[in-house]
Amino acid sequence: MDLEDNLLMMPGPVPVPPRVLRAMSKPMINHRGAQFSGIYDDCRRILADVFETENDIFVLSSSGTASMEAAVGCIADKDDRIISIENGKFGERFKDIASRYGSVVPLEFEWGSSVDLDMLEAQLQEGAKAVTMVHNETSTGILNPAEQVGKLAKKYGSLFVMDGVTSLGGDNVFVDDWGVDVAVVGSQKCIGAPPGLSMLSVSEAAFDAMEKESLPYYLDLKACKKSADKEKTQTPYTPAIPLFYALQESLHIIEEEGMDARIERHHKGAAAVRAAMDAMGIEMFPQLNEYSAYSNTVSAMKAPAGMDSETLKKEMMKSGITIAGGQAHLKGKIFRIGNMGNVSYRDILSTLQQIEVVFKKRGVVSDLGPATEAAIEVLCK
Ligand code: PLP
Repeated sequence: MDLEDNLLMMPGPVPVPPRVLRAMSKPMINHRGAQFSGIYDDCRRILADVFETENDIFVLSSSGTASMEAAVGCIADKDDRIISIENGKFGERFKDIASRYGSVVPLEFEWGSSVDLDMLEAQLQEGAKAVTMVHNETSTGILNPAEQVGKLAKKYGSLFVMDGVTSLGGDNVFVDDWGVDVAVVGSQKCIGAPPGLSMLSVSEAAFDAMEKESLPYYLDLKACKKSADKEKTQTPYTPAIPLFYALQESLHIIEEEGMDARIERHHKGAAAVRAAMDAMGIEMFPQLNEYSAYSNTVSAMKAPAGMDSETLKKEMMKSGITIAGGQAHLKGKIFRIGNMGNVSYRDILSTLQQIEVVFKKRGVVSDLGPATEAAIEVLCK
């Protein structure tokens, strides 16, 4: 298939606007010179708005997982109690990373179900250096209660390390107000840039907690700070310059749209997906409680009776639309539609229309139209 005809409606990587792709083709520059320093400063300035923080912000030339590892790798020493909340694939990943560095207390919930804050508080009462949690659990489409977890962590003197890989840039995240000590985002999600970079904010308390004798080498956040604090802002090692060009352009797009409008667009996009699914009798996958919500950037639905979600994915591919299936034990059982970054209402409607066509062909729905109409109603509100 022609790559340019492929509409990426998966939860990252996302479609990248032509002006961002063009930005990557500029000539290389000296990464120790003033020009690079200016680009890095500009990115950090706009990211501070996206993160709603005055904490230090760094950009790593590696994907989101590297920033997750940088955070726990610098904070956790082998006997440190680290509470790792897991209710999906990426919570599991955070737990696995933390277990390489600290003494992990797993707080596990069935994938797709909500976090129990009373259980978290009970663990915090016993003391913990840090809590890790995924804000927007991409694997299950649930939005976890970051504000409440941040406040609880502060109450008991623990650090809060948050994976905001698929929420930052597309949903409300208030790093300072919520007390998030380290927040991580990936370039290829709501930020709307190509994969390959991750960005993270680090609080003073988090830096103070990096008292280990031996920090990771490439992922040493103190080294990131030292380089960023130089007269000419730098990264410790050679940055992926073309990706920085792309990131800067993507952040300019964010600035032009404005964060409030961007978040509203993401909220409406996901609401339209949910309305369409409801109109077709398709159930959402997450089990919500009073503190959780459906994700505003990726929707996860149960596969209809008698139809494997991998089949739906393949059928959608035939019309050039890539949606996601389920991960690990959820493979075949759920399907996911991303509406991250610069995905437009037109993209969302085309996707929903095509799903309706596939479902009609397979006898899942009897009529064409109700799903798309329900989505249009939400988008036009
Ligand atoms: N955390 C979440 C919530 C994600 O969705 C992803 C990727 O999909 C990651 C972490 C891992 O990021 P990366 O693949 O950029 O390393």
